[in-house]
Amino acid sequence: MLTKTGNLLAENILDGKLVAEELHQTVSKTLQHIGTISPQKPKLVVILVGDDPASQVYVNRKAQTAVKTGMLSEVLTYPVNTTQSQLLAVIEKLNADSLVHGILVQLPLPSHIQTEAIVSAISPEKDVDGLHPFNLGRLLAGEKTALCKPCTPAGIITLLQHYNIPLAGQHAVVLGRSNIVGKPVGVLLLQENATVTYCHSKTRNMAQITRQADILVSATGIPLMITTEFIKPGAVIVDVGINRVNGKLVGDVDFNAVKDSASWITPVPGGVGPMTIATLMLNTLTLFTQQTGIKAD
Ligand code: NAD
Repeated sequence: MLTKTGNLLAENILDGKLVAEELHQTVSKTLQHIGTISPQKPKLVVILVGDDPASQVYVNRKAQTAVKTGMLSEVLTYPVNTTQSQLLAVIEKLNADSLVHGILVQLPLPSHIQTEAIVSAISPEKDVDGLHPFNLGRLLAGEKTALCKPCTPAGIITLLQHYNIPLAGQHAVVLGRSNIVGKPVGVLLLQENATVTYCHSKTRNMAQITRQADILVSATGIPLMITTEFIKPGAVIVDVGINRVNGKLVGDVDFNAVKDSASWITPVPGGVGPMTIATLMLNTLTLFTQQTGIKAD
């Protein structure tokens, strides 16, 4: 099968790049329409502390996509020795800036900075990745109104739904329990009426559990860990992992080994990653509308 982007893909690929592109176009059209009503544009600010090359790539990609879709975007880069109070001061200023609608702090942060303190300092109204405890609480409570869901988990659900993959009643097994991916993706799958099992670093006999999965979401960051022994034939495999091995990007899943036994599978790159960015664009637009009251009819 030849995709719109010209890549040759097997038929069971969940093509995040393609779906993300469609979402960018939707956001772009909405913003063009908004442009006829108001000169104001949504603004996303992404904060990067340190010089991790992978984080630099992600941050630039986020900012560039925001501009491509017609938003304003700024990347604020700080050295690795930035203190927690310096970073808190930056966030306080951005919270008070009425021209900034979405604030994202690229994780992970250097170890001397407490992630919870930083994420909690972002105003919940500007928390574009939905990771503030208030927003995570709302997510857990199942609140649906004007809620920014965490970008990677929400992007995964959008991708599965785009391909009409049934979720209700399916056994979804999530590998990983981080606040940014594992926990919220399980909550979102539960909201879609899947039966959810979490596995993590202390889980015993994991393959016995994963082999029961109709949908397997892996977010461990362990390269190529998931081989055929972990998979029920016909399962849907979502690979969140981004790992660099010998200069090449690979996921948690040994794609070549399992792709023929999966009914659907995300590639790395080109699966979950682009969906994360597309959801970030949608979330920024949502926050802009909430804060300004400006929306396309
Ligand atoms: P994390 O390190 O915070 O969490 C990893 C999780 O994996 C932990 O909960 C841990 O318990 C679990 N784990 C570790 N070893 C395990 C094992 N042997 N079996 C089962 N579970 C195990 O990482 P994170 O921030 O959740 O990210 C996970 C991966 O997803 C990383 O590779 C990261 O780069 C990637 N990621 C990708 C995107 C994207 O947009 N594609 C977004 C965020 C994170």
